[in-house]
Amino acid sequence: MTNADLVERLTERRLALEKRVHSLGGEGVAIVAVTKGRGLDVVEAARAAGFGDLGENYAQELRSKARALKDLGPDGTGPGPEPQPVAWHFLGRLQRNKVRLISEHVSLWQSIDRTAVIEELGRRSPGAAVLIQLNLSGEPQKGGCSFSEAPALVERAAALGLQVDGLMGVAAAGAGGQARAGFRSLVRLADELDLPVRSIGMSDDLEIALEEGSTMVRVGSALFGPRPQATRR
Ligand SMILES: *Cc1c(COP(=O)(O)O)cnc(C)c1O
Repeated sequence: MTNADLVERLTERRLALEKRVHSLGGEGVAIVAVTKGRGLDVVEAARAAGFGDLGENYAQELRSKARALKDLGPDGTGPGPEPQPVAWHFLGRLQRNKVRLISEHVSLWQSIDRTAVIEELGRRSPGAAVLIQLNLSGEPQKGGCSFSEAPALVERAAALGLQVDGLMGVAAAGAGGQARAGFRSLVRLADELDLPVRSIGMSDDLEIALEEGSTMVRVGSALFGPRPQATRR
């Protein structure tokens, strides 16, 4: 498939996804295209297809893609001002020592779940926009804080000058009704803490998340095809 074919196909998928998301959740719902594990050709095509928000899970991968896109310039042929710069979202487990690698590129830190990382971000990236990640699946390796820890982390981040926009959560794969309950609790907590952004919903649980009040969905495989094995959650 040529790059032009890929751009055309991704543009069609973007329009279809926007229609579906906006019919269920309203015009205000943001779509983050998750490009982890995909090659630079796909990232470039996604940008050309009009995806302005891209998500990545690994610091090194985000950094090299962000740099490469900048180097490619607006039309993919060389350096130049980007007509529509990409907003990068960091979605993965974040080690404190990786913050500095990517702080110049990240627009929204979606996976903030502990004090050490909050403190590092406060130092390296004053004013950075963050979401506090809640663990909805009960699986410790998935990341995210508990519901009881979240209010103190929100407070700590705000006290260090970070901009806390909202909460993020990942439901267990194939969780069905359990996903709904987790999303509902996340939205309730965001209401209580007066946080506008509720980043819930991925390819497999988009509808449930939108029904429960998502304001931001993060979609990978529904746009780009099945995920490369190594990056499965
Ligand atoms: C991989 C990933 C996504 C996208 O998942 P898909 O099932 O491919 O849509 C969204 N959010 C996070 C945190 C992820 O790790």
